[in-house]
Amino acid sequence: MIQSLNPANGKLLRSFDPLTPDALNAKLAIAASAAKTYPNESLDLRIFWMRRLAALLEADLEELAATMTAEMGKTIVSARAEVTKCAAACRYYADNAARILAPERIATEHSESYVRYDPLGVILAVMPWNFPLWQVFRFLAPALMAGNIGLLKHASNVPQCALAIEALVRRAGFPRGVFQTLLIEARQVENVLSDGRVAAVTVTGSEAAGRAIAAQAGWLIKKTVLELGGSDPFIVLPSADLDAAIDNAIKARCINNGQSCIAAKRFIVHESIYPEFEKRFVAGMAALTVGDPTLETTDIGPLATPQIVEDLLDQVTHARESGGRVLTGGSRAVNVEGGRFGNYFQPTVIAGVVRNSPVCQEETFGPVALLFRIGSLDEAIALANDTPFGLAASAWTTDDAEKQRLAVELQCGSVFFNTPVASDPRLPFGGIKRSGYGRELSAAGMREFLNAKTIVVAEHVSHTQPSLFDQPKAEPRSDKPSEFLQIADQLRRFEPRKSSPLTAEPTRATAPTRTAEPAKTSEPAKVEPTKPEPQRNGSDKDDDAPPPRGGSILGLR
Ligand code: NAP
Repeated sequence: MIQSLNPANGKLLRSFDPLTPDALNAKLAIAASAAKTYPNESLDLRIFWMRRLAALLEADLEELAATMTAEMGKTIVSARAEVTKCAAACRYYADNAARILAPERIATEHSESYVRYDPLGVILAVMPWNFPLWQVFRFLAPALMAGNIGLLKHASNVPQCALAIEALVRRAGFPRGVFQTLLIEARQVENVLSDGRVAAVTVTGSEAAGRAIAAQAGWLIKKTVLELGGSDPFIVLPSADLDAAIDNAIKARCINNGQSCIAAKRFIVHESIYPEFEKRFVAGMAALTVGDPTLETTDIGPLATPQIVEDLLDQVTHARESGGRVLTGGSRAVNVEGGRFGNYFQPTVIAGVVRNSPVCQEETFGPVALLFRIGSLDEAIALANDTPFGLAASAWTTDDAEKQRLAVELQCGSVFFNTPVASDPRLPFGGIKRSGYGRELSAAGMREFLNAKTIVVAEHVSHTQPSLFDQPKAEPRSDKPSEFLQIADQLRRFEPRKSSPLTAEPTRATAPTRTAEPAKTSEPAKVEPTKPEPQRNGSDKDDDAPPPRGGSILGLR
């Protein structure tokens, strides 16, 4: 049974039976069928659907945010921001797909050589609950934009979010089967992954999940991307703006109720500023409002499951056993709803834990900060790197030489200076070491599930001579542009819109009422016959027709 429980009060919201083997097989068949046709839809049309998806997210923002808050306890303010960020990711990929997917010419001794980027097919996404929409959209937007097919196995505690995402994609107009939610349990992932119709898998979640799925995918030789846990350092050096560093340290630890892979977890502070930092950081953490996540004044809502509270209590105990002093918090928070249920945990700061103790090597997935005093940059770097994880780091300094060393020597996927770590559709996101491998977001994320296909054309004979195999050439090269040149020419004429074309709530995809024009070109007349053009016959309504289906305008899939 897959259950949606409100972590603020333990109430059952809804429950679902997992898919039976037959039902699962039927969904895989639909996905495989979509994989045959969807890549042939024009890029303009895929962009059009992606922009509608962005507009739908914004139109449904309150409902989607409320669903997330109800299912996993994030504050309503952060839930709204998450929906907005998903819309931004859709628009980023709509704006940049033509550029990212464009074939790349490479000079060789051959008459033509280039790389084209083709979709892999059906991609399984195994996703966590902590950002129920954002984690999915940062897979979904680039995958669908590139012509791949998505199958979502979401975390079992957010089934309503999972179903809402599938419904949004359909309402945006994407064809049937392009994106499906599979309400299945973790043990059923193995069956999906081993199915020959599934080409690859992306996993965001714990080390245990990543290891189990990657082991199977490795045996099957299927491409994987792993986005796993983190224990990010937050380094504060003497030249830092201390006010900004302390303010952002509190936010960086407590974002999403402390349940973020890139939340800062280990605070590494230079001894010259340590006393001041500790005093104000502890006071700031203690002053946070813990409580009802539906209230806009709440800073920290309930943790997603009772197990997370138990895990944190264990880690606090172990920290104490390893010499740690609890400076604030350290236990369950009083339940604002009557005291009997609610996975609330006090914002907690612990200083003085012995550095090689086990708790320092674990991820603290909740509002618990470990505080360390260091005497030098060397010590800061050594401590920051003393972790099995390698996701990201935030460092606070205005010294360029320190920045240079930290950028080079920190072992992780991102280093942010004088600002907390954050994901951004424009920037690659991912880790090294036990935080996983591969990248999401930006061009790098889109290309993870594309086949970089090398094309080489060697012309061994002149056009006036018979070919090696004595087959006459159909046309001289000067008269017939190569595939690369045709594609490149079409891409030059293609300029995606910079802003959202959608201003009103879209209607259902089966009877789309367009509120936007398709992407415009600088020279629309020259891109026939494949370039979609708004039909202008004097009627405003006709201007709202989506681009025609089929026949890729760019020769891209
Ligand atoms: P989780 O328990 O690993 O669950 C993640 C997903 O994997 C869920 O859909 C889960 O399904 C599934 N799963 C778990 N074990 C599996 C197995 N053996 N085989 C197949 N599927 C399996 O992680 P979580 O508690 O939801 O998420 C928290 C973790 O995610 C943290 O460690 C956090 O750092 C990490 N995270 C990483 C990133 C990143 O980008 N690096 C982002 C967000 C979160 P069920 O729910 O049905 O068990």
